[in-house]
Amino acid sequence: SKEDVQAFLKKNAFVLFTVGAVIVGIVLGFTLRPYKMTYREVKYFSFPGELLMRMLQMLVLPLLVSSLITGMAALDSKASGKMGMRAVIYYMTTTFIAVFIGILVVLIIHPGKGSKDEFGKQQTIEQVSPADAFLDLIRNMFPPNLVQACTQQFKTKYGKRVVHVTVTVNDTLFNMTNVTQEVMDITREEVIPVPGQVNGVNALGLVVFSMCFGLIIGSMKEQGQILRDFFDSLNEAIMRLVAIIMWYAPIGILFLIAGKIVEMDDLTQMGGQLGMYTITVIIGLLIHGVLILPTLYFVITRQNPFIFIAGLLQALVTALGTSSSSATLPVTFKCLEENNRIDKRVTRFVLPVGATINMDGTALYEALAAIFIAQVNNMEMNFGQIITISITATAASIGAAGIPQAGLVTMVIVLTSVGLPTDDITLIIAVDWFLDRLRTTTNVLGDSIGAGIIEFLSRHELCSRDVEMGNSVVEE
Ligand code: ASP
Repeated sequence: SKEDVQAFLKKNAFVLFTVGAVIVGIVLGFTLRPYKMTYREVKYFSFPGELLMRMLQMLVLPLLVSSLITGMAALDSKASGKMGMRAVIYYMTTTFIAVFIGILVVLIIHPGKGSKDEFGKQQTIEQVSPADAFLDLIRNMFPPNLVQACTQQFKTKYGKRVVHVTVTVNDTLFNMTNVTQEVMDITREEVIPVPGQVNGVNALGLVVFSMCFGLIIGSMKEQGQILRDFFDSLNEAIMRLVAIIMWYAPIGILFLIAGKIVEMDDLTQMGGQLGMYTITVIIGLLIHGVLILPTLYFVITRQNPFIFIAGLLQALVTALGTSSSSATLPVTFKCLEENNRIDKRVTRFVLPVGATINMDGTALYEALAAIFIAQVNNMEMNFGQIITISITATAASIGAAGIPQAGLVTMVIVLTSVGLPTDDITLIIAVDWFLDRLRTTTNVLGDSIGAGIIEFLSRHELCSRDVEMGNSVVEE
């Protein structure tokens, strides 16, 4: 009946808008492509998308800190210890499965047949020792200056080279992906060690600090009350801001996607190895996201994983649009808490940590890409080297920040660890903007399904805590 239709529309308005935005964005992008817009025109055109990106990023820092602090403070140390263990086991298992799938598909499909000459020119990327990179990861956990940790540009010491710089020459857009040395010389653009246009924060350091801080104020009885109330209230206020931004999100996503399609390189190169490579990555990510993670969810919780995933749709599309799991974080919170009714004590704990260190898509991608690069160089990787790749790809995914194309930078470690030429990263830069979106979506999916699984496994502790605090435990 008419009322049913209305009720359906009302309930699913967000989902409809969001899916609509993606479709319209793609159509609009391809329609405008033939007009060959200049760099400046593309910038103007994608402005609404840029705004969304900025709004989401604006919320990440207060959201990350306040949710982790309140999340930890709401759990007693035993419950948080158990939940923490489960989270770590989940992150580790799923990341390793992802790496395994990446390796498997690339070995079976073998996209790197043929010679490297098909690719054309390359740029030089600096070598980095895996040991230094590892120490860097640990170092970042302990920011010496908290204020700086909130404002610092995301920097990687893994490689000083740019992954993504935009320079303008004669009003034409050059991404680093297609900047030749001549162009660089003409423009004398500074080469900056920042992947993407995102102003990063040292999320890992803030995560570690906030967790400890939350645990402490949780154990402080009355003296801690004022801090608990403060962060609770801050968290609530930020979530209300998120709710407003969600209404704008479809518009932003539409323009982010359309703008990217307008400016992307021609797809003519995609015929050969690079095309096969892209397909291999897509297959790997699909196996992990559509098969493995849902199966895992089903086996553990006995609930329909696809209903769960349907509730996440807006977060997944936001990940696709922004290529940043941190920028998507506010939306992920909203989807999980409101659509999927995941306990806030779980989301507050699992999501910020997950967005920072649990990146299934990135891990899968890095292992796969490393072996692809070995293939185009006609190098056979032996079993030991493949194990090394699995371990370093896992580490690299933990170290990668949740910002666009961070995974490409941390790949230097993986390649160096098995003696592959790091310069060959430039072979795959041309398709990275696209694959980055897909792996980011997989990353967000992995974090969200993790929240569902961990909530299920922790239900007893959550309940007993409720009884203790006099909360009602009646299921909605
Ligand atoms: N862009 C990804 C993310 O934000 C990280 C990556 O480059 O793999 O999750």
